[in-house]
Amino acid sequence: MKCNVCGSTEFIDMKSRKRVKCAKCFSLERTRMLYLFLSRLELDDHDQVLHLAPEKGVFEKLSKKLVLENYVTADIQPEFFNFAPKTKKIDLCELEDQPSNKYKYIINSHILEHIPCNIAYSLWHLHRMLTEDGIHFLVVPFVKGKYDECFQDLPPAVRSKRFGQEDHMRNISIDDLDQHLGKILSLPKDFDATLFFTEEELKDANIPEPFWRGYSMNSVIMLKKYDMKLLSA
Ligand SMILES: [Zn+2]
Repeated sequence: MKCNVCGSTEFIDMKSRKRVKCAKCFSLERTRMLYLFLSRLELDDHDQVLHLAPEKGVFEKLSKKLVLENYVTADIQPEFFNFAPKTKKIDLCELEDQPSNKYKYIINSHILEHIPCNIAYSLWHLHRMLTEDGIHFLVVPFVKGKYDECFQDLPPAVRSKRFGQEDHMRNISIDDLDQHLGKILSLPKDFDATLFFTEEELKDANIPEPFWRGYSMNSVIMLKKYDMKLLSA
């Protein structure tokens, strides 16, 4: 078993979950799953990539493969990304000034739950920013149950209990997926990593079998521009 992002064979525990985090690049299953998909891309010098909240290991790989001025890393708090000093500040609730049809790839993992405004707004703009042949790689920490969201000023402990973390605005649920993300995005019926990768590849990347099939916090959704249903051609 080795991290498919950085090549390390050492994994460390994360609370009760044993040997899930890469000791070198700190990737978790979701980042290794995401990188399985990204590593298959045939990146071109002209491809513009927007990588939101970049993961260290993925950043290091992509910055070697891409022309640096075409690789934009961004976050609401760029100061947290010392390994990527050119990370720009982008607020996903203020996207009007961002260019249309610019990015061939947008990488967006475990961000939707943090956005403190209507996520249809952010998703519409991100898809507006994609090129006609672009792909939005979306990883969502899906949870069981029904969609829940709260913009009130909840005490951190209350927010943490309800949403799993004190800076989470919502639980994005699987049970009523058709009623929220499904209303605005054309989502694949299901996620099945084995359609893309062999069991051997998945095992070797230390991605446990329960995450191979079905929507979970580690599933990677590949969306085309007009999979955003509110955007017209
Ligand atoms: Zn690693």
